[in-house]
Amino acid sequence: MIVHLKANTSQEKAGQIAEKLNAFHIKSSGIHVLITEASTKEIPGEIENDVDKFWVFDNDIQLASKKYCSDKREVKIGNVSIGGNNNSTLLIGGPCSVESEEQIRSSAELLVGMGLSTLRGGCYKPRTSPYSFQGMGLEGLKLLAKMREEYGLNVITEARDATHIDEIIHYSDVIQVGAKAMYDQGILRACAKTQKPVLIKRGFGTTLKEFVQAAEFVLSGGNENVILCERGLRTFETGTRFTLDLCGVAWLQEHVNLPIVLDPSHAMGYAYGVPVLSRACVAMGIDGLLIETHPNPKVAKSDAAQQLNYDEFKALFESLKPVAKSVGYKMV
Ligand code: PEP
Ligand code: MN
Repeated sequence: MIVHLKANTSQEKAGQIAEKLNAFHIKSSGIHVLITEASTKEIPGEIENDVDKFWVFDNDIQLASKKYCSDKREVKIGNVSIGGNNNSTLLIGGPCSVESEEQIRSSAELLVGMGLSTLRGGCYKPRTSPYSFQGMGLEGLKLLAKMREEYGLNVITEARDATHIDEIIHYSDVIQVGAKAMYDQGILRACAKTQKPVLIKRGFGTTLKEFVQAAEFVLSGGNENVILCERGLRTFETGTRFTLDLCGVAWLQEHVNLPIVLDPSHAMGYAYGVPVLSRACVAMGIDGLLIETHPNPKVAKSDAAQQLNYDEFKALFESLKPVAKSVGYKMV
């Protein structure tokens, strides 16, 4: 259950009520909001007079539910925003991994030249093999921060585990929680304590409910700036790397009030499929599109097969504009 207390409720009183209900207590637009387990269906008589409104739910998708807030939330990322009534699709581009200053600077210059605002690049890579490139770590984060400073870009980078989450929160404008990391409650709880935007990627074996529940960890801890990212599920198919769950995206659009980003690069796993898949994504009217691009994909230290070269990335952006327009959106 979600409870809004009356506007004049003091902090102390709200705290006491939260304790009585064994509830999470956050403040949203100046209102005291309490969140209990979904099994709570009734307001106890002794607090009835303190309650302004309340909502009951069938399960623990609560703060993220459209039943609670039917409008899509808007999340600010520096001087741009994603979601809300923007009707725009934010193109997030950059390499899988930050590999050198020269490489990430070339990506930053590419984006600036195209009028784009948000640069991605992993520094702590959640690789399947311990022998593969693991990312530049803190040195990479400092390079991203340098790009932000020099080019005025927003940067997004992923947390692999909770050990370096404070570094990521410090250096990044958007904290990416990867598909393998989205069950790490150390990361989720740390993300709840900051106000920086958090982009949670869906695990490749994660149900939609579990996906949104990961978001609830962040929302119920007091950070309302959560973005969801669908990046493909593991199925029986081996011809493509993963299977992009567009049905799941339609479900999220219907039931969940968080902005949605799609990542066709990781889903497809091969550069040849990324443009067509991207056009399908944008045709759904989505809030963001995450695309990996590299100055020379052949020599990329991670996810080489799926990264677009810069010419392909520029051509993709142009091709997406009319698709976005056809559904009342614009590419930004
Ligand atoms: C990435 O964005 O480079 C990445 C590792 O993504 P995912 O967590 O979706 O595998
Ligand atoms: Mn990658």
